[in-house]
Amino acid sequence: MSPTYDFHNEEYSPYRVRQRDDKYAHEVLAERPYHGMLVSKAIVDGSVRGSGKYTMPQRERLYRLGVQKYFRLPDNFTTLGDCGAFNYIDEVDPPYSVPEVVDFYESCGFQEGVSVDHVIFHYDPDATELTVPAKWSKRREITLQYASDFFDEVKNRGNPIVPMGAAQGWSPASYADSVRRLEEMGYRRIALGGMVPLRTQEILDCLYEVDKVRENAELHLLGITRVGTIEEFATLGVTSFDSTSPFRQSFMDDKNNYHTADGAHMAIRIPQVDGNPALKRKILAGEVSQTDAKRLERETLRLLRAYDEGDAPLEKVLETLREYEQLVEGDKMDPNKKNAKKPRISKYEVLLQEKPWKTCNCGLCSKLGIEIAIFRGTERNKSRGFHNLAIFAAKIQHVGRAPSQENQ
Ligand SMILES: [Zn+2]
Repeated sequence: MSPTYDFHNEEYSPYRVRQRDDKYAHEVLAERPYHGMLVSKAIVDGSVRGSGKYTMPQRERLYRLGVQKYFRLPDNFTTLGDCGAFNYIDEVDPPYSVPEVVDFYESCGFQEGVSVDHVIFHYDPDATELTVPAKWSKRREITLQYASDFFDEVKNRGNPIVPMGAAQGWSPASYADSVRRLEEMGYRRIALGGMVPLRTQEILDCLYEVDKVRENAELHLLGITRVGTIEEFATLGVTSFDSTSPFRQSFMDDKNNYHTADGAHMAIRIPQVDGNPALKRKILAGEVSQTDAKRLERETLRLLRAYDEGDAPLEKVLETLREYEQLVEGDKMDPNKKNAKKPRISKYEVLLQEKPWKTCNCGLCSKLGIEIAIFRGTERNKSRGFHNLAIFAAKIQHVGRAPSQENQ
């Protein structure tokens, strides 16, 4: 997020240089919400689907400075590299060679690196090596072969990087067998991959089976956040995990996008008249006047801010919000229509009455006020995502460490 963003005029400082001046969650929250960072090669360097999310200068800076300095991480943070296997899930083979991946880890100066893996997009607890589709059993063998080569490559180069073996599987038994073989290769850190689509109970079934064969390797769960089960995970050898989910929910989740200690609120959607395709169509079709729409948009924002200052009554704010929602959604909310959208106003009312930003200690809510509860534009949504990370960290504070995934 940009610390100099002007929320009232919705403008960035003309002097802003994105990666240099913008701040990460560990730099702006009152307490650091994670203890490390995971960076995927596919996101930095791109993979089969084309270039990564980094611009060329950003990528060069990351290579030049190393991951610790690039992300301005505190000294006690753990840095972990992986391939980002979900990005090449449709390929027959992983698009990277082992030396290429070790080069990436070395150049960026990661403390830990996950072996090259290939996600098995299939879960069937009863399938064996013989009954599972050959495509999936082959991916497990590929992953194990790469792990063996990766372990040797890291050792031969004498690199201080801690190798983390990737375990893939389609069932508790196949995951357990992968972990057993990785430990035989010499791995003391093992990352369980491909579990993102699994239900929590399925993950637990796998962990219990793994626990029967595991000697002393510590486990990392790739991409997993299950708040309620983290304690149980820890008893089964899980010492770290990574996830962007609390952050992403701030703009990906329709309902629960502003988290609280005991649940979640629905942030107030005030779409930009200029940026909303549905509204633009209506304006072009002459159904809605652009001037009226913009006036109502400004008035809604003004009233929300006034309400936060104690200068506008709730009734008036709700009335205007209802009007703006009607303008944006229009006939989509017609109750006589099939799959009609439900008005969000009752949820907004709860949020506005509670004003959770007034009591939140995350460090951003107190600074941004009601802006953080408005679903509009990347800066508000990112800030709310950071707030969600802080809430999440507080919920799991009593258990182990948790690196967060960098996806920007
Ligand atoms: Zn907060």
